[in-house]
Amino acid sequence: MVLGHLTVTAAGHRMLKDRFRVLAALPLGLILVGAYLPDLADKSINLITGLSGRGYAHSLVVQLLICALVYLLLPRLRLPLAALSLGAAVHLLQDWVEPAVLLAPLLGPIPPGPRFSFIESMLGFYRQGGLPVWLEALAAGYWTMIAIRLRSRRREEESEPAVAEKAIAYAE
Ligand SMILES: [Zn+2]
Repeated sequence: MVLGHLTVTAAGHRMLKDRFRVLAALPLGLILVGAYLPDLADKSINLITGLSGRGYAHSLVVQLLICALVYLLLPRLRLPLAALSLGAAVHLLQDWVEPAVLLAPLLGPIPPGPRFSFIESMLGFYRQGGLPVWLEALAAGYWTMIAIRLRSRRREEESEPAVAEKAIAYAE
């Protein structure tokens, strides 16, 4: 649930960046921020106003309008905007947003939803069990593997100068 957007977006970027060069040009950090933007916006708005936690930030129509506006007003921000937009679009795909929300407000207003509670949402997610929980566990395993790989690479880099110093001392 928490790791899903991060993992799918990062793994998708990693798999596709060599095939689609435009992906390699976009900053991954901003793509990942974009992958959480719809939830950050809508959950925050929900806490304040009571509007749905999958509200207008989950609308492709609203996202396209905001992108077009920022693109026209701040053309220097095209690259970061493209990265954020890509992440936000991937978020909509992962959420499998219903058409009434995806095309809002074209199909009418989004009805108010229940107040979002992070703790209740987390508990509900893990209590439901099934495939989503297993996918979350898989995502946790993916990031654990990445962390282990990075740590071992860092250790190798740290030990290389020591090995080189010993070799130089031995040669002298
Ligand atoms: Zn969402």
